[in-house]
Amino acid sequence: MNQADGGSGDPLVRLFLDLARIPSPSGSEREVVDFLAHYLADLGLETREDEPLGEGPAAAGNLYCHVPGEGPGIPVLFSAHTDTVFTTPDAQPEPVLDGAIIRSGSRAVLGADDKAALAAIIDAVGQVINSGRRHSGIELMLTVSEENGLKGAKAFSLEGVKARCGFCLDSTGPVREVIVRSPTQKTIRATFKGKSAHAGVAPEEGRSAVLAASRAVSAMRLGRIDEETTANIGVIKGGEAVNVVPDRCSISGECRSHDGSSLEQQVSEMLDAINRAAAETGVDVETSVVDEFHSFDLSADNLPVKLASRALRSIGIEPVLASTGGGSDVNEFNRKGLESVNLSVGMEKVYTPDEYITVESLGQARDLVLAIVDIADGHDQV
Ligand SMILES: [Zn+2]
Repeated sequence: MNQADGGSGDPLVRLFLDLARIPSPSGSEREVVDFLAHYLADLGLETREDEPLGEGPAAAGNLYCHVPGEGPGIPVLFSAHTDTVFTTPDAQPEPVLDGAIIRSGSRAVLGADDKAALAAIIDAVGQVINSGRRHSGIELMLTVSEENGLKGAKAFSLEGVKARCGFCLDSTGPVREVIVRSPTQKTIRATFKGKSAHAGVAPEEGRSAVLAASRAVSAMRLGRIDEETTANIGVIKGGEAVNVVPDRCSISGECRSHDGSSLEQQVSEMLDAINRAAAETGVDVETSVVDEFHSFDLSADNLPVKLASRALRSIGIEPVLASTGGGSDVNEFNRKGLESVNLSVGMEKVYTPDEYITVESLGQARDLVLAIVDIADGHDQV
């Protein structure tokens, strides 16, 4: 009897524990991608791995798998990411089945985000294959490097994808939420470049980059800007010593909004504050704005929302359509034109060593995948 899995006879629990034991920080996902590819190969399925993202032998690429269907319904795509956040570099993952809960036995995160989803998806596909269940086409896109900027999803091409809609399994909380709305996020960075001087002997010869940065930040509207929009400066770095007028200071922050014009307005105001502060203090400034993820906004009438809602009801769970302030691969799928929702899979307290998932939630996540496959196959009732 394996101590770590508590002797669980549940193949889904064992599968999750096997996945969770593999360390897979973003950019070092070789082992987990190989595990998934072997699992699918054992089911007789072919996989395709995209170009590795990251450096060195531990880097891996997105894993794609197509299970052709014979049904007349809607082909669907399921997605989860293979990386986990790596908050404690020296701690190895040590998942433990503790009664009806799976938690971390070490200081490492459990990694149910997103290995619970990987286990639920490939176990469901295994059941489809082994039972000869009819379906209308299933595609899997198991992405790498989601946690460090949706890199896998950004690199993924929809060319050749047959699915009419997608389901990311990458949201926290009990199995019931269908994330239908998420904001756009932009990151703003500015580096102020002034002139250093001795602060006590010749301060008038210096131009303070710290002063410029602080004026810029204090002139900005930050926090909740309106119902749809938030803004934050999260990092400020500058200066070397108390007796030196600082010649370098950088700030970085973000702006998120569900509303495109409100986002543009806020970003433009923040850039104006930066440029005005630089001009007033006589320092140079370089700015950059990076698109991190793009918003989506679906309603109960959109295909993946209808399918997910019906599937949840079919397994006895009342769906909750929800909005989030965060971004995930599903933002990128929608931006590329594959209408997709994010589904909660039961993971709790993610990004902390207290992360856990119940055995019940894991089973519900797998049953939800199977239910979507079934509902999509009977498309005339959708
Ligand atoms: Zn995740």
